[in-house]
Amino acid sequence: MKSRKLLMIPGPIEFTPEVMRAMGMPTASHVAPNFIEAFGLALERLREVFLCPDGQPFVVAGSGSLAMDMAAANLVEPGDKALVVNTGYFGDRFAAILGRYGTEVTEVRAAAVGDEPELAEVEAALKADQFKVMTITHVDTSTAVGADVQALGALGQQYGALVVVDGVCSVAGEEMRQQEWGIDLALTASQKALGVPPGLALVVAGPRAMDTFRQRKAPVLNYYADWTQWLPIMEAYEERRPSYYGTPPVNLIWALNVSLGQILEEGMDARFRRHRWLSDALKAGIEALGMSQVPASPSKTATTLTAPYYPAGVDAAVLKEISQAGVILAGGLHPEIKARYFRIGHMGAVTPSDILTTVGAIEHGLAQVGYGFEFGAGLAATQEVLG
Ligand code: PMP
Repeated sequence: MKSRKLLMIPGPIEFTPEVMRAMGMPTASHVAPNFIEAFGLALERLREVFLCPDGQPFVVAGSGSLAMDMAAANLVEPGDKALVVNTGYFGDRFAAILGRYGTEVTEVRAAAVGDEPELAEVEAALKADQFKVMTITHVDTSTAVGADVQALGALGQQYGALVVVDGVCSVAGEEMRQQEWGIDLALTASQKALGVPPGLALVVAGPRAMDTFRQRKAPVLNYYADWTQWLPIMEAYEERRPSYYGTPPVNLIWALNVSLGQILEEGMDARFRRHRWLSDALKAGIEALGMSQVPASPSKTATTLTAPYYPAGVDAAVLKEISQAGVILAGGLHPEIKARYFRIGHMGAVTPSDILTTVGAIEHGLAQVGYGFEFGAGLAATQEVLG
């Protein structure tokens, strides 16, 4: 029997064989012509994947938290004001990072876990003060709540705040049109829908964000994340010139270039549609098995992950049984409800058969822990949506 299990957590995800081959190539010099070409191409492709033709991409070694840190460090100065639209764990993190740079942070919080703040509340906050930056977590990975980035972004623009989107659990999966939606900066990490092993922090900054950076009075308070250093490096690679600041993670960037090529080959619209379709199929299976979900309503639910509550009488022990059946899922993350729910990631190269396997393994796990349900009900509902 194969020992390989299907990894269905909200990152790291399953990567394509082509991406993994790039990870295994003999590492080249960071100024080797084939590496410079791949890095330059990856930067060009990022504009297409983020749908931000006028954006400036930054790719550095690090995780998604570094991308958040980079956004904050370069855009705010001590004494600036920021508004954090907080839908969970990663909203808290953005507030903490902004605070670390001396920003005065105001948060608009959802009334309850699984909800998102009303647009009117966000607008009231924007009216009440002048914020330099407004942050939104597109998909909060702790709750599977998907924020209405388009509407929130429009509000931020209307009131003159730079709109910053944490797209770690959304970019290249959940629909996001950075330029069209007026998002001044979007960021992500490699290990999620972008389909590359962990280790890259990625940011695309639009013209208003770059202008804000250029007009800074105080130096950037983070040495490693400073765009003063990184901008010339990114420009050099795009112009296919050798350069150096911090050694780039060569194999990860090769892998990024391969994955971006695969993403663009599928096409962004088709990719957003596939994520929605597979998400709907999985969620139908979950509901048919009698499980409710953390997001308060279907319109607030992400398409890159699903967060079901355990049914009555079931707890985290079921995850072990599901793993025995060959599928690895994640436990809860949000401190208020951590023990009551679990999370299923379905992004990147995920296929209909991955979804069926997952629902099948969940049924197996539930049966093992003695939960009463009609065998096959989840699979039937999933099949119905898959068509
Ligand atoms: N923001 C969101 C929405 C995330 O899901 C995560 C990671 N799960 C992060 C930020 C932080 O990314 P990393 O773990 O790569 O630092």
